[in-house]
Amino acid sequence: MESQLAGLVGNDTHGAFIEIEGPTERLEQFVRRLQAELPPLARIAELRAEPLRAVGEKAFRIDASERTGIQDAEITPDVATCDDCLYELLDPQDRRYRYPFINCTNCGPRYSIIQAVPYDRPNTTMARFTMCPSCQAEYDDPANRRFHAQPNACPVCGPRVWLTDRGGRELAGDAIRECARLLAEGGIVAIKGIGGFHLACRADDEGAVSRLRERKGREAKPLAIMMASLEAARHYVEIDACGATELDRPERPIVLLPKRAAAQIAPSVAPRVDAFGVMLPYTPVHTLLFAEGLGPLVMTSGNPTEEPLCCDNEEALRRLPTIADAFLLHDRDIQRRVDDSVVLAPAPGAGATASDSPLPIRRARGFAPAPIEVAAPTPQAVLAVGGELKSTICVLTGNQAILSEHLGELANAEAYRHFTATIEQFKALLRAEPAVVACDLHPDYAATRWARKLPMPVIGVQHHHAHVVSAMADNGITGLVVGVSCDGTGYGPDGAIWGCEVLVCDEAEYERAAHLGYYPLPGGDAGARETWRPAAGLLSQMQAQDWDRMAASEFGAISEEALHVARRRLREPHRLPQTSSLGRLFDAAAFLLGLSSENRFEADAAMNLEAVARLCCGAPPLLARPTDVFQGEWPIVMDARPVIGALLSEKRQGRSAPELARAFHETVATMLAEAAARAAGERGLDRVVLSGGCLANRLLAGSLRRLLQEKGLSAFVHRQVPAGDGGLALGQAVVAAERVRRHGMRRA
Ligand SMILES: [Zn+2]
Ligand SMILES: [Zn+2]
Repeated sequence: MESQLAGLVGNDTHGAFIEIEGPTERLEQFVRRLQAELPPLARIAELRAEPLRAVGEKAFRIDASERTGIQDAEITPDVATCDDCLYELLDPQDRRYRYPFINCTNCGPRYSIIQAVPYDRPNTTMARFTMCPSCQAEYDDPANRRFHAQPNACPVCGPRVWLTDRGGRELAGDAIRECARLLAEGGIVAIKGIGGFHLACRADDEGAVSRLRERKGREAKPLAIMMASLEAARHYVEIDACGATELDRPERPIVLLPKRAAAQIAPSVAPRVDAFGVMLPYTPVHTLLFAEGLGPLVMTSGNPTEEPLCCDNEEALRRLPTIADAFLLHDRDIQRRVDDSVVLAPAPGAGATASDSPLPIRRARGFAPAPIEVAAPTPQAVLAVGGELKSTICVLTGNQAILSEHLGELANAEAYRHFTATIEQFKALLRAEPAVVACDLHPDYAATRWARKLPMPVIGVQHHHAHVVSAMADNGITGLVVGVSCDGTGYGPDGAIWGCEVLVCDEAEYERAAHLGYYPLPGGDAGARETWRPAAGLLSQMQAQDWDRMAASEFGAISEEALHVARRRLREPHRLPQTSSLGRLFDAAAFLLGLSSENRFEADAAMNLEAVARLCCGAPPLLARPTDVFQGEWPIVMDARPVIGALLSEKRQGRSAPELARAFHETVATMLAEAAARAAGERGLDRVVLSGGCLANRLLAGSLRRLLQEKGLSAFVHRQVPAGDGGLALGQAVVAAERVRRHGMRRA
């Protein structure tokens, strides 16, 4: 030891411990240096020092792990290859030159390979590889960068890659070079990565991209692109300082960035939106592929559409042979499927400031399962089971909330299995036995039905309350706030589908201060897919002669029969679902402006409306005084019909779609900011917390924040967890914990 101290270091289930003995001043110096000279990935959550009796240690040694006690040691996320490893990877003199599994304590897989705690090699999928003497020496040397790097490996002793055809027959030659050659020629290759498979093809080859879409059954949803480097990415997307930081961070998320006009990317990669989802290489395999001179690659999750990611070799060969021409496989097993994370870079000029952090859209690889610290420790371990789409689960113990990675849509049987398996794995990995379960109020959510069968108290949490509390927890806020939930769908206790809610709430209770006026939504599930349906629902409530005239002019493209059925139903609106959904209001606007008739994937129409609105650099709201549409006092009902009416009459006067789309965004933002300000004034509050899936709309979110700040209110948005349903479980867990704290277990 440099400090000439003796002792030992080890891991137990509480985390790392160091016992050192020596003169006091050297011990103090050691603690200072420990904090100041941490390796890049290391983070000290809490440092406790206590005196021990000296036992006469002569040297410094490593203690073998103990496996007892309560598990609260951090299970860390997977991390992109570090610069030191990249240097060795490309150095012909290094013993790991071109070795696709190079890693060290600062980088490599973690969460995706852990089978049990504590995090030691025998508890990972690396257990079957016995380290060679050189690797073992590095692993045992406290001065080495690979000291206790659990996935440590080299070409002599570690995993290997190979390339197969779609029948699983290994192809001759250097696997990486052959794979790069197939890709360059326009082929589609399934590439095994950290948390699952990617389907890859050239992003600048329209033939290859269309083939991938056709085979995968993915009609329109934008595809992510991997670029060789930050410099390469600048040719295709606008990257400011914040965008560069996000792209380059060790978590390596997919970052949504504005397209550059001249970008040489196949049109079908991301049609009808003005951003590309871009990521940089994060495994040695990616780096080696790009070292063969490849341009940008589409890298989309390796699964048939709507099914979870494939993660083992046999499964991939079974499920993907009709999509991929070849498979780049390896023999380091993936213990957990973990999708790529997605973040939205703040948009310059849309109300964002330099200090804005990006908005998480999907929190998975690189981020999960890093804990989120909550303000108050929970009296009981809580399990929260989240929503239905973009499912995640959360376990809250002490003041640490562990939110799972994105698990997918629970209506899908594979995703549902992933959901139940993750709950069991979390309980084992965290050694937590939840005493309370929190769930959404929607009786038909698979997660809610599952939770209600458990032999423990169940706490139902209103969807939008959970959204707002997740944003509070995300920002470390407690106490009463005004919460604005801009959302698509959430079950309301009155049986309506809520979606645009201004709440006055704290972590346990909420009151509804304002909401969008209800409108009927014909067509059941089709109401969320076909954008003419919410438009018809809104228009049917306007004056009868208007409705007839509008039906003729606005619904000409809709099938006569579907329209006839909807109109008949709309004559008895009380028998249809009533909704205050903001997402459906955006759909209706996109439809009436002639932009989108269908959501081919979630938020398709709204994203299109936003992209079109951005073509116009500014427009006043559609109504001179948006508060004219307010009815009632508490809650205020914000009537959307005059907004839709104004949109149509301005359209008839010939205003352009971009101008009207922009004006529509401004109108909604103004209405919401005004309603939030009234609620804040009424209760003497000055903090407004924003959440809900529609916040992924940067134009809406930016305007809303700007307007709130102009009114002297502080606006808080998500920083660590998604504003959409991926963040729900965190909010549910915090609400349940607070109710138990206030009322005890029986009355919670
Ligand atoms: Zn490294
Ligand atoms: Zn080795």
